[in-house]
Amino acid sequence: MKPSLIVHGGAWDIPNEAVEACKSGCHRALAAGWSILTRGGSALDAIEAAIMVLEDDPVFDAGYGSHLNLDGRVECDAIVMNGATLRAGAAAGLQRVKNPIQVARKIFENCPHMMLVAEGAERFAKERGIQLCKPEDLVSEAEREAWSKCKTDKHAAAHHRGHEQGTVGAVAMDRAGNLFAAISTGGTCCKAPGRVGDSPLIGCGCYADSEAGGVSCTGYGEAIMKIVMAKTAVDLLRQPATCVDASPAAPCDASTANIAAREAVHLLAKRTHATGGLILLDREGNPGFAFNTPRMAYGYVALDGNFVTAV
Ligand code: ASP
Repeated sequence: MKPSLIVHGGAWDIPNEAVEACKSGCHRALAAGWSILTRGGSALDAIEAAIMVLEDDPVFDAGYGSHLNLDGRVECDAIVMNGATLRAGAAAGLQRVKNPIQVARKIFENCPHMMLVAEGAERFAKERGIQLCKPEDLVSEAEREAWSKCKTDKHAAAHHRGHEQGTVGAVAMDRAGNLFAAISTGGTCCKAPGRVGDSPLIGCGCYADSEAGGVSCTGYGEAIMKIVMAKTAVDLLRQPATCVDASPAAPCDASTANIAAREAVHLLAKRTHATGGLILLDREGNPGFAFNTPRMAYGYVALDGNFVTAV
């Protein structure tokens, strides 16, 4: 089977000056994941490698450089999900982990449960060999500055150098046909301590079922949860495609994967009036994406093996 890979770096109002940094982050994430997949490596290794590149890049809202909560601390969430078994590993409220996706993977592989939070998740990670850092090590100067403005004024994209940085996600299929989806996020700026968004919740931010496809979402978590967006998108892949936004003047020429992605985002807007986006692979590995924000950072490997990145 031909491997496939798609990544995202968040759907928000990304300003012109941040476009190149977001594109380059997505490109490097694709390179990290694709080198594993083309050598016959696993989809799980590929999404972990891709997400770690994005977590380490402070232009994205994951790992180092994540948004701060009201207390001025980073609290990260992450998940991986296996489309073959429907098993996931998820962690939320991490304050002392540089690469939260590694904790999600450890939970996926070594824990009888599927989700651990806060101190318990960190203790589990440490016992499995993941080094914990100081909470301050995750705080970038830029986010500290943004936080002090958002806290005393009102939250505004302008405080974040003109944009709200994005959650990161990846979906991969390897040569053996294994399908995995994943997300890592610092959540929303000035969130209440303890707040968990859609990202680490199975079916909300992330879902994978090898019978249909795998999805990773981004956007306003409280709205994404309402429509269980990732599972909704996967279920749309099971049905014959119906184009929600086609008109007689502009008939639908999108792929089934893109139509399902568009339909899920359309539902988000219709039922919650919120904005967001998602990436997906259908069960054959065809990529799809959609967003109703001004921009989304994303990248995928085209059929000819070229990397396509866009913001
Ligand atoms: N969905 C994330 C959350 O609400 C934020 C994002 O996608 O940027 O935590």
